Amino acid sequence: MWLKVYEIIHKRAIAHNTKHLIRASGNDADMDQPVGAPSDLTGSVRTENRNGRGAVVLLCDHASNFVPPDYGTLGLDPKDLVRHIAWDPGALPVARAMSVLLDAPLVAAGMSRLIVDCNRPLQAPDLIPESSEDTIVPANRGLDAAERARRVALSHAPFHAEIESLVQCRSAAGQETWLVSIHSFTPTYRGVARPWQIGILHDDDRRLSDALMASLDAMPGLTVGDNQPYSPADRVYYTLERHARSRGLPCVMIEIRNDEIATEAGQTAWAERLAGLFQSLSVTAQEGIEA
Ligand SMILES: [Zn+2]
Repeated sequence: MWLKVYEIIHKRAIAHNTKHLIRASGNDADMDQPVGAPSDLTGSVRTENRNGRGAVVLLCDHASNFVPPDYGTLGLDPKDLVRHIAWDPGALPVARAMSVLLDAPLVAAGMSRLIVDCNRPLQAPDLIPESSEDTIVPANRGLDAAERARRVALSHAPFHAEIESLVQCRSAAGQETWLVSIHSFTPTYRGVARPWQIGILHDDDRRLSDALMASLDAMPGLTVGDNQPYSPADRVYYTLERHARSRGLPCVMIEIRNDEIATEAGQTAWAERLAGLFQSLSVTAQEGIEA
C-alpha cells in the first residue's frame, strides 16, 4: 500500500512540475531565497480530491505565483514574481502530497497574492499589496474601486466561495471537517534569521495545535514556532476565521520554512511527517468519540 502511495505522489509531483525549484543567481538581496518556476496553477481556484473522505480539508491560499497575462509583470522585474513575495514556494507540493496521504480535499488559490491576497479581509490595507517586504509593486499603487473589485473577483471571491461550498457539502453529508492551511515562510526576514523549521499558528481554539506542537516538539532536531513567525495578531488567520472559527470547526495554520521544502525530497518528507501526525490525531479523535 505504501509503495502505491509513493508511486502516486511521485507521479503527481512530476505531473505538477514541482521539480524546477532553483536558486537565484546574482540577485543580491535574495540570493539565499529559493525561487521557483511559474506555478502550474493558472486559474482562480483549483480543488483537488474534492470527494476526499478524510477529516482534514487542506487549504493553500498562496499556492501560485500566476499573474494573468493582461497584468504583465505588475511592473516588477520578472525575477520578483518567483520570489516569496508572490507566493509560498513549496507549499502546494506539500499540500498535494498530504492530500493523497490523508484522502483530503485540497483547495488552492490559483493566482499570486500580488494580484489579491486571499488570506486577508477585504478591508485590509495589504489586500492588494502596494509593496511587499522592500519591493514596491508598481501596478498595485493607487487602484480605484473598480480595479480593486476586479482583483477580488479574479481570485479572492472564487477561492472563498469554493471553500464555503465544500464545507457546506461536507456538513450536509455529516462529514467531520478540520481545516488545515499550508503556508511557507522565508529563512530570513529583513536580515534576521528565523530558527523555526515549522510554525504552528492558532488562536484560542487549540484542539489541533496543541497536539501537533507536542508531537513536533518531541522530534529531535526540530525547532517549532508557537505562533511564529506570525500569529493571528498579524492578521494572517483570515481564511480560518472565516470558514472554521465561524462554524466551530477545528483548524490550524501550518507555516513551513521554505528551505525545508525547496526540493521534492523535502516536500515529501514534510508531507509524510505532517500526514502521520494528522492520522494519529484522527485515531485519537475517533477513540474519543467511541469511548
Ligand atoms: Zn502564506
